Amino acid sequence: MDIRTQKTFEALFALEDIREILRQRLPDTITPEEEHSIRKGVDRVRKILDDIENSTGVPEIRKIANNIDIRSREENYINIQPIQAAGRLTPEARKALIAYGDGYSTCDACRKPFRLDKISSPPIAPFHEQLASFVNMDVARVVPGARRGFQAVASTLVDKGDSVIVSALAHYTEFLAVEEAGGIVREVPLNEHNIVTADATAERIEAVKQETGKLPVLVMIDHFDYQYANEHDVKGIAKVAHQYDIPLLYNGAYTVGVMPVDGKDIGADFVVGSGHKSMASPAPSGVLATTEEWAPKIFRTTQMTGDLTGRKFGVKEVEMLGCTLMGSTLLGMMASFPTVKERVKNWEDELRKSNYLIDGLLAIKGSKVVSEYPRKHTLSKIDTTESFDVIAQKHKRRGFFLTDELSSKGIVGEFAGATRVWKLNTYGLSWEKVRYVIDTFQDIADKYNLQVKREDNSNDNREL
Ligand SMILES: *Cc1c(COP(=O)(O)O)cnc(C)c1O
Repeated sequence: MDIRTQKTFEALFALEDIREILRQRLPDTITPEEEHSIRKGVDRVRKILDDIENSTGVPEIRKIANNIDIRSREENYINIQPIQAAGRLTPEARKALIAYGDGYSTCDACRKPFRLDKISSPPIAPFHEQLASFVNMDVARVVPGARRGFQAVASTLVDKGDSVIVSALAHYTEFLAVEEAGGIVREVPLNEHNIVTADATAERIEAVKQETGKLPVLVMIDHFDYQYANEHDVKGIAKVAHQYDIPLLYNGAYTVGVMPVDGKDIGADFVVGSGHKSMASPAPSGVLATTEEWAPKIFRTTQMTGDLTGRKFGVKEVEMLGCTLMGSTLLGMMASFPTVKERVKNWEDELRKSNYLIDGLLAIKGSKVVSEYPRKHTLSKIDTTESFDVIAQKHKRRGFFLTDELSSKGIVGEFAGATRVWKLNTYGLSWEKVRYVIDTFQDIADKYNLQVKREDNSNDNREL
């Protein structure tokens, strides 16, 4: 590990040790032993700071609690891993993690009616309102991941044997949410461009009606799917769903937090986003937003009474199991939110970088893009069977030759050993990093005598 990164972690850890002394002392007092420990701690930090300044020293801490490695991928590498890009924390989120790491830290000022989304200090209640308006819906709740949003909706709307329309590229968590509720998924087939259209959705709804004598109870559609990150016609599909009076769940796992999302304009009844995938938030986090019409159903409160004690828990929402994201997960999400709100305005630039990188890969003879092109997302699936895989076939390290070459240049996150079809995500990389990544790929191509067409970055070099 780069010594500056290593020493930065050591300094943070050493400060935590000082913090622990402050936690252990009696209020407003400090014993001579504690004073001594603090001084020792400060000396240690000073020495570490010198090491950071001068890039000196050797690693002194290798593990947390003896068996947990320090994770320094984001400090020491350019990470192009498909699902990690937009979930990287902001510095503010990391500060919130430190300050709110204790278990139920959100609950210091929890007052009647004792529900997470009502807490005003820290400003959790206003955050919920901001979240709803961020996706232009009426009401929002934080949930432990997009999947828990699907689960809450499916559990409310789906009864045993009910059909739910999903895309043929639906995420597995949509299947599981429907399965748990006792429903059955009915997939909408893709067209020849791997896109889910409104017409295909209408046909599938009709087919289900014919076959079962009942309409599906819910349509769940991913705006950008996880396989190709192709854009699907969510707006057209919402219109079709509503023609049959079926509510639409907009799966924004790959959109909410990276690009502007307007739930009302789309015609969504539910908007689901993923905090750890696209909102620079710790896991597990996400958002479930809905309309005034649906909120009382999805966010219904408990009706149960204890048969012996007669106890009731009136305001607790059944699908949320009362409270959802406690502690630093939520505070991290909140701390990133101002940045997230701003960054969605830069989506066009993110797309330019995405296309720039793809064009650079396509310039390596034999490489193809499997996702729709030009790219409308920063996640892309590419096929290097006829470029890098040709080398892998003859290389003693097989597909790992590419992994080795990339990591020696400080690039990680491509599926290790994969040289045929694989995914990458450019979200949040600076132009400088994007250029570096493409130069590195092209240099590797040169090294192994793959032809690189450098001068032409136009849109027609898709299949050289
Ligand atoms: C990642 C992903 C999910 C799951 O999101 P979580 O927040 O981890 O539950 C759901 N749908 C799609 C399309 C995804 O890409």
